[in-house]
Amino acid sequence: MNWINNYVRPKINSLFSRREVPENLWTKCDECGQMLFHRELKDNLRVCTNCGHHMHIAPRERFQALFDGGAFREVAVPKPVDDPLRFRDQKRYPERLRAAQKASNETEAMLVAEGEIYRTPIVAAAQDFGFMAGSMGMYVGNAIVAAAERAVELQRPLVLFSAAGGARMQEGILSLMQMPRTTVAVEMLREAGLPYIVVLTHPTTGGVTASYAMLGDVQIAEPNALICFAGPRVIEQTIRETLPEGFQRAEYLLDHGMLDRVTPRGALKEELATILRMLTGLGPLVHGDLPRPEVEPQPVVAEPEIRPEPQAEAPEEAPAEDSRT
Ligand SMILES: [Zn+2]
Repeated sequence: MNWINNYVRPKINSLFSRREVPENLWTKCDECGQMLFHRELKDNLRVCTNCGHHMHIAPRERFQALFDGGAFREVAVPKPVDDPLRFRDQKRYPERLRAAQKASNETEAMLVAEGEIYRTPIVAAAQDFGFMAGSMGMYVGNAIVAAAERAVELQRPLVLFSAAGGARMQEGILSLMQMPRTTVAVEMLREAGLPYIVVLTHPTTGGVTASYAMLGDVQIAEPNALICFAGPRVIEQTIRETLPEGFQRAEYLLDHGMLDRVTPRGALKEELATILRMLTGLGPLVHGDLPRPEVEPQPVVAEPEIRPEPQAEAPEEAPAEDSRT
């Protein structure tokens, strides 16, 4: 029956494989299982259109949606020493790094950029959970220091989007040293009188929660984000008690005074701009790109042309009568 194997089967396979939907066109929501069309999901900032679940979003994609017209300038981050501990588990550390770089098309787990949101100039840094779980190593430390220095240089506020599984174990003690280092960077902003806003996204854990992610002047979180030092499973095993529902999630932490706001991703841009303009003494938020009405000198010339309408004349007579009496 060779002809079945050699002829019929490939024919059937090719027929079916052609009808198969390419994997990258659809994404399954982890929360509700709904199949979501790729473009629709991207337009909705990677928030499930069915249940509102906030999926992981890469920093570059976030910045494209955040900054006016999607335009931003990357801030250069000094490159740290490669693999200082010569760390090896199942794979060598440089191999893991290269694989993550190839998969994400980014150099490391944090992206720093400068630009404007609703014409409010800012410096922003975003952590990439897709890059080795967004782990905080020397590069992330360098990125936060670079972001703070740039913010001080330009006299702009710093907005930081956190997402991390904690410190990067491949860099051992050197990754833990980024905790005091980034704390000093935040202190630089405070001394310069510049606002520092943190947006905590799912998940923000470990050493990141224990340092720069909790030091914001305003602490905002995305809905249902897990924010903790030790995870709920570890705590449950240690204290041998069941934890309350929603423990360490954004809404729970808001109820218990650990956060200032829980804001859906779609509303973040406007909220950030409003808060930042308030804190930096800029005028209120103006929507759209048209100039403000009072800038136009025309109204005086235009008025007589509108007046002939009977409705416009009526209210004008009333105040005239008042002045006579
Ligand atoms: Zn969903």
